[in-house]
Amino acid sequence: MVTAIVGANWGDEGKGKITDMLAETSDIIIRFQGGANAGHTIINNYGKFALHTLPSGVFYDHTTSIIGNGVALDIPKLFNEIRDIESKGVPTPKILVSDRAQMVMPYHVLFDTYEEARLAGKSFGSTKSGIAPFYSDKYAKIGFQVSELFDDEEPLKEKIGRVIAQKNVLLEHLYHQPLLTVDGVYATLMEYKEMVAPYVCDVSAFLYEAIREGKNILLEGQLGSMKDPDHGIYPMVTSSSTLAGYGAIGAGIPPYEIKKIVTVVKAYSSAVGAGEFVSEIFGDEADELRRRGGDGGEFGATTGRPRRMGWFDCVATRYGCRIQGTTDVAFTVLDVLGYLDEIPVCVGYEIDGVVTKDFPVTTKLKKAKPVYEKLPGWKTEIRGITKYEDLPENCRNYIEFIEKEIGFPITMVSNGPGRHEIIYRNK
Ligand code: GDP
Repeated sequence: MVTAIVGANWGDEGKGKITDMLAETSDIIIRFQGGANAGHTIINNYGKFALHTLPSGVFYDHTTSIIGNGVALDIPKLFNEIRDIESKGVPTPKILVSDRAQMVMPYHVLFDTYEEARLAGKSFGSTKSGIAPFYSDKYAKIGFQVSELFDDEEPLKEKIGRVIAQKNVLLEHLYHQPLLTVDGVYATLMEYKEMVAPYVCDVSAFLYEAIREGKNILLEGQLGSMKDPDHGIYPMVTSSSTLAGYGAIGAGIPPYEIKKIVTVVKAYSSAVGAGEFVSEIFGDEADELRRRGGDGGEFGATTGRPRRMGWFDCVATRYGCRIQGTTDVAFTVLDVLGYLDEIPVCVGYEIDGVVTKDFPVTTKLKKAKPVYEKLPGWKTEIRGITKYEDLPENCRNYIEFIEKEIGFPITMVSNGPGRHEIIYRNK
């Protein structure tokens, strides 16, 4: 059976932890979109890890970890990540990389950096991992698939020449930076070839067999609904679809095989990068939540940037869950809220004097003001609790209030960063 694990919000909902947890009873874990621009933080018996490219299932020896064709593959980063986890005692993972995955080229990272600098105050807050230039090239049909590394020298060099002719115009005239050469890019690609060769595979054919054999397969999403280029807060979005539906494309499996969609929802809000964020909070209130958040503060796993903080947003989350096609909600990081006397929850947006519960398009979102309802806090530590009934009453009320507002069943409650800190609810 195929299960997708995706985010309802701006990312950083705790998908890594849920994936790592569900991977215990899974055979295959696949990354199907995005690149090394976001990170999943995982804490397990080997230590604490920030994964950027590898799926969060690499810590088990019974799983196969796959980089699907939809990923923006940064080969040196993948290679270093494999080395890093091995050096920390994790058994060498079984990794497959799709021969149809496209590669982040060294110039993608440069273009990302130059463009953010050029836009200055109007920048997107990119992590400068080359993701936007990568996907632009993919859809402009001037990207490079892993399979092309194994092509003959002549056609590869010919294509590099064609592509960099265009890049060099921008480098010279827009960014005033050093130019690219065919031999330089070719030499880099040959280094990439050596690094990736042991892992390359026809992933969709592999998965076709795996599905026929009844294997348990997880699709691990990156970021969340708000960052989807179609359904999110465009243009402050990422460049590949963050939705479970895209899992079928980015892994190469039939859409109807995705039977379960676990949407991860955090008990408060956080966001990295620019863009609309209606329930955002500031000042001391935000600092305290940031400091207490996650498992050591809400700071970006890739950049270390302090995350923007906010109260739970029912409007955005209901929409985020709907657009994912949620079958189950995993409600995470609830333990962090135990310090609050009362907890504001955003239950509506006021736009031009009218209150709505429907998440609007970006032009209207800009005008939205949060409408809050305050729920009583539970003022106690809930880590270590394993049964739903044992949670304090106000804590259960918070969960059930949010469940009703978002309209999707919360079947898992995460009350700590550890792999087994989870409370299942039968719904
Ligand atoms: P992802 O990108 O969705 O995987 O999320 P991140 O890994 O960036 O952020 C989630 C953070 O919260 C990580 O540091 C996790 O270790 C941590 N985390 C996940 N679930 C819980 C939880 O239930 N409680 C606490 N305190 N931390 C959690």
